[in-house]
Amino acid sequence: MNEENTSANPIGTPDAAPDVVAAFEEIDTDQIPSTDIVFECPYCGKSLSIDQRGAGLVIECTTCHQLVTVPIPEGMVLSDIDLPPEEQETQLSNMRVMLSKAQDSIAQLTAENQELREKVETMSKAMVARAHRLTELRTMYSALAKSQEEATDSLSRLRRFLDENS
Ligand SMILES: [Zn+2]
Repeated sequence: MNEENTSANPIGTPDAAPDVVAAFEEIDTDQIPSTDIVFECPYCGKSLSIDQRGAGLVIECTTCHQLVTVPIPEGMVLSDIDLPPEEQETQLSNMRVMLSKAQDSIAQLTAENQELREKVETMSKAMVARAHRLTELRTMYSALAKSQEEATDSLSRLRRFLDENS
């Protein structure tokens, strides 16, 4: 078979494997049918191969058992692929699992977000309190500086008075 023609094969050629699920298996490098999509599991890196009618499907990795989405080859139109009802059923249930996982992580992110917001609020309150204290200290400092100035002034007047009257 001519390898260069692989991507040009139309979907649903007579030699395509009839059963998508049965075609999903670990790779035997010498015997990949030309209609298969070959890709790596994003979780464990295992090379996977599936009949091209599996494009866009959510499947379970044979190695790590994570649910992965089969990539859609360039130029392939999903509506060209008609899935048998039982396949659609499996797909729907896999989608439900993924949706539930996504909802879990959204809930977790929302909780983390709330926690961060509270931390930021606590920190800004502490900063405001510090700014207040700093202003108080500045006021006290300038009051002290003024008193010292007045005391120095009185002292030198006293000295002048003593000098003049000695
Ligand atoms: Zn995997």
